[in-house]
Amino acid sequence: MFLKEDHFDYIFIGVIVLIGVIALLIIVMNRFYTKQIEHMADECTLKEYEQRYPHLVRHGKVYCYHCNTSNIYMKQIAFTYHYLIHSHICRHCGTELYRSKMQVR
Ligand SMILES: [Zn+2]
Repeated sequence: MFLKEDHFDYIFIGVIVLIGVIALLIIVMNRFYTKQIEHMADECTLKEYEQRYPHLVRHGKVYCYHCNTSNIYMKQIAFTYHYLIHSHICRHCGTELYRSKMQVR
């Protein structure tokens, strides 16, 4: 197939527009998913856990509502450019108790 010289201009402009649209889509999707990920920690915070189970948060310790132990570990479940999202899980029974986010930048 033979293309005339002015066809190349249209192809060039088309490719540039396509790259622009794809770049814009990537930026918009990245913002959307970043918000979604950061929202993961807002769903069940320590404050909410304390409000729900006031007797299980005492003397700076958090106790599991399922098995009543205070042996809790922190597991990183997600990260964004600004935050690390942690899940606080009971070491004894594996129940997730609450989540937190830590600002890194
Ligand atoms: Zn437990």
